Amino acid sequence: MRCAVISDIHGNYEALTAVLRDIERFTIEQRVSVDAVWCLGDIVGYGPQPRECVQTVREICAVCVAGNHDWAAIGKLDLDEFTGVAANSAEWTSAQLSPQDRIYLRGLPELVNAGEFTVTHGSPMNPIWEYLTSALAATPNFGAFETPYCLVGHTHVPTIFLLADDVRPAPTPPPILTEARTSGFNPGDSDLASFPDIEAIPLSASALCEHITPAPGLWLVPEHRRAIINPGSVGQPRDGDPRAAYMIFDSDLGFEFRRVEYDVATTQQKMKEQGLSPRMAARLEKGI
Ligand code: ZN
Repeated sequence: MRCAVISDIHGNYEALTAVLRDIERFTIEQRVSVDAVWCLGDIVGYGPQPRECVQTVREICAVCVAGNHDWAAIGKLDLDEFTGVAANSAEWTSAQLSPQDRIYLRGLPELVNAGEFTVTHGSPMNPIWEYLTSALAATPNFGAFETPYCLVGHTHVPTIFLLADDVRPAPTPPPILTEARTSGFNPGDSDLASFPDIEAIPLSASALCEHITPAPGLWLVPEHRRAIINPGSVGQPRDGDPRAAYMIFDSDLGFEFRRVEYDVATTQQKMKEQGLSPRMAARLEKGI
């Protein structure tokens, strides 16, 4: 099985079409087929072509989950939860969408199980909102899904969280695994006490879970290890590399992280023409 995983397109149709061309190039060069394209949410928001992006995802993606910006644009989330720029962009996006686009976005699930994968936008514990930016945040999430792998987006940064062997974290964050407390682990405090393996492990979450920033190229999952994997963002990368990010999973080979150049200036020009945030447009060329 081979599938392409895209996320956080954010209305950037130039970036999306560049990625789709790259998938086509991959199939020709490797002489293989890509069986499916999956999308991890945030099809819209910030970018100048939400409608084209929603229509493309509707046509090509066998799996797609809801992102916070998708639901903000159709009024399913309260705009008070968003920053001023994001709320303004959600209102503008809302006015661009067709009734069919709105029905599609409204019906997107928060979480999907697909073979070896759990697929969601933020995290299995909080599919719409949680940002998995650290081992501390990721570790309890391994207790909230059953499959070997979980695919997430939302942070716009290609990331792998690799769980230590033989660990079964609790599905809810015990006191030690919150941002506020980073020391003082006491197994008696939490559900972790029911997993004897963990008692023997040193205290920090990083001992339970490796936080890897993958370079472009192939990454093989060590045998019998579970991972939460973020392919990065198609339309608004935030890891300092402005190229569109996505991933191809091959069940025989592993995860290939890919970057694709696209015409950033054209997207910026379209944002300008639509009166969208100049600051968000400027960020695209730096990938921040
Ligand atoms: Zn996003």
